[in-house]
Amino acid sequence: MAIGIFGGTFNPPHLGHLRLARAFAARFSLTRVLVIPTFVPPHKLTPDLADAATRVRMCRLLFGEAPFEVSTMEIDRGGRSYTVETLETLHAQYPGEALFLLVGSDMLETLDTWYRAADIRKLCTICAAAREKGKSPDANGAVLLEDYDPIEVSSTDVRERVRLGQDVTDVVGEAVAACIAENRLYTDAYTGYRKLLRTKLGDYRLRHSFCVADAAGMLAERYGADPEEAYFAGLLHDVMKDAPRDEQKEMIERGGTVLTETELANPKVWHAMAGEAYLRTELGVADADVLSAVRYHTTGRAKMSLLEKILYVADYLSADREYDGVERMRRLAESSLEEAMLFGLSFTISDLAQKEQIIHPDSVDCYNEICLKKGTCI
Ligand code: ATP
Repeated sequence: MAIGIFGGTFNPPHLGHLRLARAFAARFSLTRVLVIPTFVPPHKLTPDLADAATRVRMCRLLFGEAPFEVSTMEIDRGGRSYTVETLETLHAQYPGEALFLLVGSDMLETLDTWYRAADIRKLCTICAAAREKGKSPDANGAVLLEDYDPIEVSSTDVRERVRLGQDVTDVVGEAVAACIAENRLYTDAYTGYRKLLRTKLGDYRLRHSFCVADAAGMLAERYGADPEEAYFAGLLHDVMKDAPRDEQKEMIERGGTVLTETELANPKVWHAMAGEAYLRTELGVADADVLSAVRYHTTGRAKMSLLEKILYVADYLSADREYDGVERMRRLAESSLEEAMLFGLSFTISDLAQKEQIIHPDSVDCYNEICLKKGTCI
């Protein structure tokens, strides 16, 4: 009898795993393939890492039929899951039987760094297959599955898609997708908002929103603001930006804000005011600081709160930004939010002036306030 051993975190198991295991089972006529989820200490559990029992359940749903069998041996053993110990246990359990260790190409690349790698090689035949289409891995002593057509998916991709509220049935199958949904795996407090943003923003703006949320959270950590509040404001700051202008204007009016003459003549600032109104009236956001951070993220204003400054700066330096000067902006924000703001304001104000476009008085107030504080503009 030949036994296949397929270990992994399986967080969650996906169709890429299933295809690999099936391909090896066929290639070596394996009568039994043990799917072995690794133990992960309970204190390491995060919204991103499902507990052992749930990972086992998902493996059973995906690897439901012979020759597959889901084994809890590593989970029952606890502690760090060393492949060599699993192989030794199986050798003792199935004396004289050939063991085939199934791995993807990424695992094969790191195999020599595994604990007692030389013993692993003695105890089993290592079998590897590509994870990327058209890329054959370097054999490194393993039996390669030739002409293997992988499904290019990873558990990380699956978790990310769930976080965005996307359906993952196509990559994990119906049963695992249902289990993920029922147990609300891989979601966090913002999943619902990300889902909403997907309906309101195009791909470019959606990515920008995620990047600004990350940047705002990071700046909040650095400057002692609430990272959750900052992340939330960053995530939703452009919620109305892709809406048609008349919809933006209507939202502002519905929110009870009266546009000034300069604002009426400058639709580019509407989305920030409409965003504030949307958060307050449609989403029921009551946090006044979050609301004003969204409201003033484009123009700035005098007497900004810490959160307002953070969102303003995050919008300029988020990971998706590529303009000339973004690196300088990022460096400035490492030591001073005001210096970063001044840089951003100077950039925007001079750019608008050069094009003879309207400058919102709030931006001028904000710029002047920082200059006065610095004492450099007299
Ligand atoms: P993560 O994205 O969380 O790192 P993963 O998708 O790599 O997870 P693991 O549970 O770490 O999944 O992988 C278990 C085993 O399955 C490893 O040997 C890995 O190389 C292999 N594997 C994972 N995804 C694929 C795939 N799409 N095609 C072939 N092999 C895969």
